[in-house]
Amino acid sequence: MGASAAGSTTAQTLRREGFAGAITVIGDEPHLPYDRPPLSKQVLLGSWPAERTSFGAGTTYAEQGIDLRLATRATGLDLARREVALSTGEALGWDHLVVATGVQPVRLSDGHQLAGVHVLRTLDDAVALRKSLVDAASVVVVGAGFLGSETAAAARQLGCEVTLVDLAPAPLAVQLGAELGWMLAELHAANGVRVVGGSGVTRLLGESAVEGVELSDGSVVKADAVLVAVGSRPVTDWLDTSGLPCGDGVLCDEAPAGVHAAGDVARWTSPRFGTSLRLEHRFNATEQAVWAARRILGQEVDFDPIPYFWTDQYDARIQVYGVVAPDARMVVVAGDPAARKFLAHYVSGGRVSAVLGWNMPRELRSERALLTAI
Ligand SMILES: Cc1cc2nc3c(=O)[nH]c(=O)nc-3n(C[C@H](O)[C@H](O)[C@H](O)COP(=O)(O)OP(=O)(O)OC[C@H]3O[C@@H](n4cnc5c(N)ncnc54)[C@H](O)[C@@H]3O)c2cc1C
Repeated sequence: MGASAAGSTTAQTLRREGFAGAITVIGDEPHLPYDRPPLSKQVLLGSWPAERTSFGAGTTYAEQGIDLRLATRATGLDLARREVALSTGEALGWDHLVVATGVQPVRLSDGHQLAGVHVLRTLDDAVALRKSLVDAASVVVVGAGFLGSETAAAARQLGCEVTLVDLAPAPLAVQLGAELGWMLAELHAANGVRVVGGSGVTRLLGESAVEGVELSDGSVVKADAVLVAVGSRPVTDWLDTSGLPCGDGVLCDEAPAGVHAAGDVARWTSPRFGTSLRLEHRFNATEQAVWAARRILGQEVDFDPIPYFWTDQYDARIQVYGVVAPDARMVVVAGDPAARKFLAHYVSGGRVSAVLGWNMPRELRSERALLTAI
């Protein structure tokens, strides 16, 4: 269930590795499975047409004997009967079920109905947001996580006046620590973005279209377009009455035999890092889907990856391997932050739990070895 990175990779891995049975992939979007990372980068900037994000033509799935059903939603799960209810009214039987329904954006409690207010998760979201950005003079991005920071960079590169607002003191400070956050704040400021840290948004203002954003200190920032990027939640509503163990994601460790989960929706305990993880990272969707497929093929495989993600903002490619603990200290071990080219370790409890590279991709790969011993 879910026809994106994790869902399509599970199906294709099964076929590639010899599964001969029927495979059905159910996706509620109308588009062929596509890649999301370019949405906040190349698609917003206009350097890629939206269609270039597609993983392959519809014929590819048919040739592989994969029944890809688009614009179809899974609405319920009956574990005892081993059936999924679909929006078409059909009940689909299964021997193995893979939940790969991803996450959906959290919205502000009020104001989303105004024209010019966006979230960014899907291809349609990205196309609509780009259209707004191209026409906008002033843009406010609410939330300075990965999506918000990348969108602020893209909007600035499209010539908009951009304000990036977050409750946290600096962009990505929650995910990567305050020190890295200040470096990113400087990068955005150097590119002309107004970064407002430590501030919430109390209201979106406007009659039918957004005109401004009221901040928690009462000040108003003018806006013709607003991106709300304040987090996401796993799509498990369709499982609510099924009895499948869920809690901020599908709990893979407690799932009954024959039920698997992969990608952004999946939560499991990492033996390597000794903690429960649910990762919203592109590589994890592929790795976990391959793992799920191999389990369906009867292989006894553990899932204990070294998490990896990247983000592109202006000319900066920031990559991280590992898990950044909330109390971790960032130590620069090579290069120079002032030159915006460096490597850093995140040290927590006397050990390195994550390594970060800012424009040092090759050197970072060898640092990854530090984590394999954990
Ligand atoms: C704009 C953007 C930029 C990103 N950039 C990066 C990046 O630079 N680096 C990085 O590491 N990661 C990035 N990510 C994260 C990465 O794209 C995700 O980790 C990845 O897409 C997860 O894949 P998934 O298949 O688990 O979930 P998704 O891609 O969310 O796919 C889930 C699919 O299931 C569908 N679905 C949901 N409910 C149902 C239902 N009930 N029935 C049928 N279908 C359903 C959804 O509509 C969706 O199509 C980015 C994400 C976004 C949105």
